[in-house]
Amino acid sequence: MHSAKFPSIHPIDDKQPPERQLEHAQLAFRDLSLKCRRETTILKRLLSRLIASHSKENSSQAHILKEIKHRIDTQADVSSLIPQLAVAERAVIKYNNDCDMHKKALAEQISASAEQLKALFSLPPQLKRDVRQLEEQAKSTGYSHHRVITEMLKLYDRAVKLLSVPGHPLGGSEQQDLDRFHQLSTELQTLISGLDFEGETGEALLDIRKQLMLSPEPKALMELTLSAMQFILSGTKQERDASKVMLNRFSDELSDISSHTDIALEEAGTLIAQREVMQRELRSAADSINNGLDRFRTMDEARPELFRLTEKLEALSELNHQLNNREDRLINQLKNAERKLEELAKDTTEHRRRLGEQERKLLLDPLTKVYNRHALDGRLDHEYRNWLRYQTPLTTAMIDIDHFSKINESYGHTVGDKILQVVARTIHQCLQKTDFIARFGGEEFVLVIPDTDKNDIQETLQNLCKTVSRLPLKCNNERIKVTVSVGVSHFREKDNPEIVMERVSTALSTAKSYGRDQVIWL
Ligand code: GH3
Ligand code: MG
Ligand code: MG
Repeated sequence: MHSAKFPSIHPIDDKQPPERQLEHAQLAFRDLSLKCRRETTILKRLLSRLIASHSKENSSQAHILKEIKHRIDTQADVSSLIPQLAVAERAVIKYNNDCDMHKKALAEQISASAEQLKALFSLPPQLKRDVRQLEEQAKSTGYSHHRVITEMLKLYDRAVKLLSVPGHPLGGSEQQDLDRFHQLSTELQTLISGLDFEGETGEALLDIRKQLMLSPEPKALMELTLSAMQFILSGTKQERDASKVMLNRFSDELSDISSHTDIALEEAGTLIAQREVMQRELRSAADSINNGLDRFRTMDEARPELFRLTEKLEALSELNHQLNNREDRLINQLKNAERKLEELAKDTTEHRRRLGEQERKLLLDPLTKVYNRHALDGRLDHEYRNWLRYQTPLTTAMIDIDHFSKINESYGHTVGDKILQVVARTIHQCLQKTDFIARFGGEEFVLVIPDTDKNDIQETLQNLCKTVSRLPLKCNNERIKVTVSVGVSHFREKDNPEIVMERVSTALSTAKSYGRDQVIWL
């Protein structure tokens, strides 16, 4: 910076007599001091304005300016402040650079927030997974219930035929017809006991199952079959409706957040543009100060320009303040959207947990907590394909509780249910971790045993029979002895799951006919 010159308004003429010279000198001094006072006042005013406009955002600059003002307040000679002004000028440039950096950081922050939000929106994969899971859930629920309904329709059809054409088309006596009705009733119970509905549907089905255990008349059996189907269908619909409500809520909330985010992103863009404009203006103000101090020789000359600059700085300061407010609002909006997404993520986690639970339930038998028939189909198919590929041993066994109807008759169905649970648990405990157990129906269980040789399996199954028969079961202080019969078979060449299941079923019948409580291989 160049030091400004202050030429005298009343130059001293050394050709004049000394008194005139003195008078001139006094006048010049008075002019100079007047001028100095005026300039000081202007400078002070300018500095006050500058301090006011910088104190909020740039304390170091405000500090420098305050110091200059203090020095002006305490000393009359403003020209000695020229170096201080150079410091102030550097501070303006630094402020300018700081603004630049601040703007850059802000732009980065906004675009990071926008990215984060976009990333959160690429979080829909998460939600999509939930949707997919929901869809899969609906599909599998539909499938398993559909299978039950189909089976029930077949049962109903058989009952209709039995009732309308006694002894025909299956042939045989009236007693045989009754036995067949009894069989239908047992099968219907088995189908119902494989379902796991909660609430009203669950209770209604439980009630139907209890009535079926009392060997209902053929007509009543048919009515029970029909109402069981009705309850299953309405229960399935309720499950689907509940899922639909949940999906609709997710979708509503997502579109709400999405529209708010669009607005926020637009606002972010506008803010960045305005920051750029402000930045340009600040730069031009800084340039003007820079050039201005070089261009003007006196404070008088500089005054209009300094006023203009001060006003500009004030306007910029006000604009900066407004932008800060808008940025605060924008950040709040983004935080709000983020919070909503977090809540939604929490809800979906909970929903996913419930779906996982339901999915698990779909594969489990609700009474005994071992796998159900649906799960058995899947596992048997999987192990069969492994067997085809690797030719490692694969064995299937069918276990049936002996004279279970007598247990029900003697001690009631509730005791019967308890015994079923204990027997299932006992069988499970006798098996290896890699073995698989499912409730096949009623009081029958199927085992799938991969990769184990015959002797080990025989030992396991015999131990299982012995453990069940030694269970300390009691009702009203009366010991209840429970035994099981087992039919077992290896997969052999050209076998498939159906053939092996047929064979184990025959082996089981043989075990029953040989006196029960034993293991028969076929
Ligand atoms: P066997 O030795 O020949 O197997 O005689 P069983 O009496 O066990 O044979 P059957 O198949 O005639 O009877 C099975 C009984 O199991 C009939 C049915 O009432 C009963 N049952 C089926 N499911 C359940 C159930 O979930 N709970 C109870 N308590 N009983 C059931
Ligand atoms: Mg049975
Ligand atoms: Mg039995």
